[in-house]
Amino acid sequence: MVPLPARRALLAAARGLAGSRRVPRHHAPAAARPCSGAGDEPEAEGRSRGSALLRHLLLKLRATGPVTVAEYMREALTNPGQGYYTRRGGVGESGDFVTSPEISQVFGELIGIWCISEWMATGKPKAFQLVELGPGRGSLTDDILRVFSQLASLLSKCDVSIHLVEVSPKLSEIQALMLTGGKVQSNPEDNSAYMKGVSKTGIPIFWYRDIQDVPPGYSFYLAHEFFDALPIHKFQRTEKGWREVLVDIDPDVPDQLRFVLSPSGTPATENFIQPEETRDHVEVCPEAGVIIQKLACRIEKDGGAALVADYGHDGTKTDTFRGFQNHKLHDVLRAPGTADLTADVDFSYLRKMTQGRTATLGPIKQREFLKNMGIDLRLQVLLQNSRDTATQEQLLHSYDMLMNPKKMGDRFNFFALVPHHRVAHPDKKDKPESKAPLPPVAGFGELLLK
Ligand code: SAH
Repeated sequence: MVPLPARRALLAAARGLAGSRRVPRHHAPAAARPCSGAGDEPEAEGRSRGSALLRHLLLKLRATGPVTVAEYMREALTNPGQGYYTRRGGVGESGDFVTSPEISQVFGELIGIWCISEWMATGKPKAFQLVELGPGRGSLTDDILRVFSQLASLLSKCDVSIHLVEVSPKLSEIQALMLTGGKVQSNPEDNSAYMKGVSKTGIPIFWYRDIQDVPPGYSFYLAHEFFDALPIHKFQRTEKGWREVLVDIDPDVPDQLRFVLSPSGTPATENFIQPEETRDHVEVCPEAGVIIQKLACRIEKDGGAALVADYGHDGTKTDTFRGFQNHKLHDVLRAPGTADLTADVDFSYLRKMTQGRTATLGPIKQREFLKNMGIDLRLQVLLQNSRDTATQEQLLHSYDMLMNPKKMGDRFNFFALVPHHRVAHPDKKDKPESKAPLPPVAGFGELLLK
């Protein structure tokens, strides 16, 4: 159990947050992804950039032959000159899709409370790092920082720092503006970050391209709609055995791409398809596996937790690779670099890749997680404190977007890694009666604020 005075402080703080409500970001759209228009670039520029990346890919395919879907996806999303995220990264109202942190500040605030609740449940270590993977516009971290500032008295003796893992120069600029007001230093000599700054509330913030550059230490790792953007391999069962799906030039249509099957097995078909696999089509994201492995190692060694929120499945779905642009599904092979490409996260694969180094919780539905975190109480407080009906309507609308099972409530899942000792006493089997029960991990169980 979280000690009572601390729980009272948390509850008071959570209620107090109502006073600090910022202006709603926008009216949430009817569908989570895709959302709005073609981004902040003129359409003509988007088209020519699309063809620049297509030209690059056509040259590459002519020189080397077909490439894996993973290679294609990596180029389309993060090619250093022309990738979708590198140049555009259309998150938010003016982009191609909208995400939960962009829909409502309440989302990020509850994640902030989640971090503090875990920090308290693990004995309030003297320091913690908040590490966000793929922070988009920086809204989630911004909302969390506001919670930390509201809970300053609880955190007064704790050394907090923020570490953002972001490959997109464009999005890191937007994050810097949101979180520091734009006051950042590029390529600081004193550490491995490519940029550093100080938040509006005085907390140091560092930017990295890779999780391995983030310093070790007790950390909360957050990955919201990050893993679905990582490159996947695709495999098809055939009469001759498993084949990898590849991307090639269409011989019948000039400058057009098409999917083909590898003529024989590839190293990937050998490595990634389990003998007991029953599906006919399988997607695997090895990069997600490597990152989860790194997070599990870090949490096992230094403590903390990881919280992954994404759409996905538990090793059951087949073909989920899709593109989004301009409110619509977009052909994944058309105009690469101009559309968001994404695939559902396979949580069973992530669980497997922890290799038992940590305990895992979930996946559970977003609406269940947010309910456990007390979203209904937060909504009530915000509604009571709001002065006009337009704001009240906006609050109810964004609550519906996050919680409605037909919208984001059932589509998004929460999954966590925590140290084994966080959920089971090491010697519980031997002396079950000698130990006090461990507090539940908030979100996956009740948040103990009462
Ligand atoms: N978490 C945000 C943004 C999600 S979009 C939100 O929910 O609103 C995916 C984010 O991951 C973008 O910030 C993108 O630039 C970043 N990204 C994509 N591939 C990456 C990679 N390989 N390494 C680090 N960041 C990556």
